[in-house]
Amino acid sequence: MPGEGAGSTGDPCHGPILRVAVDTPVATLFDYLPPPGPLPSPGSRLRVPFARRETIGVVFELANHSGLGSERLRPALACHDPQPLLGRADLALIARASAYYHHPIGEVLATALPALVRQGREPSAGTARHWQLSAAGAATRPGRAPRQSAVLDAFAAAGGCLSEDSLRARFPDLPRLLRALAAKGWVTASESAPASPEVPGPPGDGIDAQIIDSTSGLLLSPDQQRVLEAVGAAPPGHSVHLLEGVTGSGKTEIYLRLIETALAERRQSLLLVPEIALSDQTLATLAERIRAPVALLHSGVGDADRARAWMAAARGEARVVLGTRSAVWTPLPDLGLIVVDEEHDASFKQGEGLRYSARDVAVLRGHIAGVPVVLGSATPSLETWANARRGRYRHHRMPARVVAREAPAVELADIRGQVLDGGLGPRLLLTLARTLTEGGQALIFLNRRGYAPVLMCHACGWSATCPRCDTHLTWHREADHLRCHHCLSQRRTPQRCPQCGGEAPTAVGHGTERLMEVLARRFPDVPALRVDTDSTRLAGRLAQSLAAIRSGAARILVGTQMLTKGHHFPGLTLVAVVDADDRLYSPDFRARERLVQLLLQVSGRCGRGEHPGRVLIQTHHPDHAVFSHVLRGEYAPFADAELAERERLGLPPRTFAALLRAEAMDAGTPLDFLESARQLGAVSSGQSVRLLGPIPSAMARRAGRHRAQLWIEADTRDALHTWLRGWVPGIGQLALARKVRWVLDIDPQEVL
Ligand code: ADP
Ligand code: ZN
Ligand code: ZN
Repeated sequence: MPGEGAGSTGDPCHGPILRVAVDTPVATLFDYLPPPGPLPSPGSRLRVPFARRETIGVVFELANHSGLGSERLRPALACHDPQPLLGRADLALIARASAYYHHPIGEVLATALPALVRQGREPSAGTARHWQLSAAGAATRPGRAPRQSAVLDAFAAAGGCLSEDSLRARFPDLPRLLRALAAKGWVTASESAPASPEVPGPPGDGIDAQIIDSTSGLLLSPDQQRVLEAVGAAPPGHSVHLLEGVTGSGKTEIYLRLIETALAERRQSLLLVPEIALSDQTLATLAERIRAPVALLHSGVGDADRARAWMAAARGEARVVLGTRSAVWTPLPDLGLIVVDEEHDASFKQGEGLRYSARDVAVLRGHIAGVPVVLGSATPSLETWANARRGRYRHHRMPARVVAREAPAVELADIRGQVLDGGLGPRLLLTLARTLTEGGQALIFLNRRGYAPVLMCHACGWSATCPRCDTHLTWHREADHLRCHHCLSQRRTPQRCPQCGGEAPTAVGHGTERLMEVLARRFPDVPALRVDTDSTRLAGRLAQSLAAIRSGAARILVGTQMLTKGHHFPGLTLVAVVDADDRLYSPDFRARERLVQLLLQVSGRCGRGEHPGRVLIQTHHPDHAVFSHVLRGEYAPFADAELAERERLGLPPRTFAALLRAEAMDAGTPLDFLESARQLGAVSSGQSVRLLGPIPSAMARRAGRHRAQLWIEADTRDALHTWLRGWVPGIGQLALARKVRWVLDIDPQEVL
């Protein structure tokens, strides 16, 4: 392979050599001679010959000398960026992340760059077609054209202007919709990008004037004041702050004030939020408050817009980047502040490819750039909690809601021996009825989509299982099919039992669809609304649902986890959790942590308006210790107790872990591969590193592949990584490595 690493014969080559990262699963940089023209700097993209094709790489460093013989070095073809695209700190972040995750540097780079930038064909700034909502469009919603209404809602949520790219990402039938809307004068096209939150306007001029007064006009609460002062009092340079503030304590206001301060100092800010279905609206709302050019980067942003926003940030034009997980990589030449909101949220961890945690990368980045990092949450992860307790992070608390409203009253409903209707016990039904009579709004939380998790034949015991996974198929009655929630395969609902030919099989258990049916029967006159990923798949549906919730048109909400995060529904007075027990039975050592986080977060949705809130949790285990913390609405005592337990058991964050996963079409190979990997490691394994397994994964077969895993743990992070550095390069050389798909997961979150 041309340009490949060391180890060759021939004259070593002298002179300027470019060491280039290329998107390939090889852990090294590749050497090239400079292309014709000026010498490219580190951080510039380069078109290079690679194997028998051409590709785009990024110059990481210049060297005087290559181990390759001069006859094997090939010249790069062209430099893409006269000015480097990535700064020193950006390159350092990629190199450090590559070392930390033991992942090839070219692949880390590929994760860090938007698709179009990676391919060297990003659009030039300002050429995107945008659409503007007219006053008439803002004032109307065509009742008979729900799709058109949805587009108008999307405009309204984004502050009136959207690019065609981001619209296309959400509305597959966009051309037809836009034609109809434009014909009525409700939207107009413009070739240039108007100043809107989504599209960075020119920097410089306006910034100072705009940020002088804080745009909210809110008077800070004493807690907010104190926290702002404490964060501001940290010595200049890098520091990490845990902002532990209960839901409704006004953390967002803190973030905004810190961003405003950074803007005043002419520094850029990065604000990361969880990947929630809502993130585009949440971010648009935030963007409205920031009086400076903002770049939005989340899953709803189309490729061209993503590349444009990213370039604007890299050039220093966008002063604030708001985004989800992958936004953590956005180059920011004047970076002055990083904020991670809801830092405990699982979506910050990428589940495939480079399995990075955006929160951890954010802290690393703050360290490299020498800037403060603020991690906010009402329910911090135990990893962060441990760092705060050890004094590595500064710990700030906001224990009360801003608008002095009592925290919701939490009670348990013991459902042992109770008659349940679709999972709803008498106490829940009674409380729900009372809430509705009082004019309140209720959220019923059930983290199970579909009609029923199992479809079974009462005559012979047959049940519908996934042919490709070790799991049952969920019956989706509305869509009238069975679906696997793991591999997404579907099949028609059988009209008769496929095994005995008897009557149509019956539904066992209940999901959100079934709950809606029970509620319609019990409360026929009360409008109910289901909000889960099925009911909101169509573009614009979620916006409609949220509008119906806010206006009070929907009185009962049935929702999955999607509805528990971050929303502000002022009318909500009851939150009822149908089933809290699932997670009590889970063998995952983080199950308790996640349960308490979930219950406190979902509780935090209610009683945010004029009326106090109430939370009811159904369980068969009312005496379980975790509930005592939830009842008091306190997270800190739980976190301390749980941390002590992890210490005792030697689990993270007391220890530091990695998981080597493998999968293959047959059952034996992954285990054999992992066993040879274990033996490879055992040779050099000292006291401080322990290997456990290999064992089959909890779901031993998924999407037709058999899965197994090997757990690696150490008492210190250093010990773990030092040991991994010696071990990982050998894994790829194992004879069985070609027969399996394997991946190393550092700081794994999914451990089953
Ligand atoms: P958190 O993110 O901590 O859950 P939010 O930032 O959503 O809390 O704040 C809850 C509500 O309180 C929001 O509606 C916000 O606008 C409002 N709020 C925040 N700070 C203040 C303040 N100083 N005075 C009045 N209202 C405030
Ligand atoms: Zn049968
Ligand atoms: Zn499946």
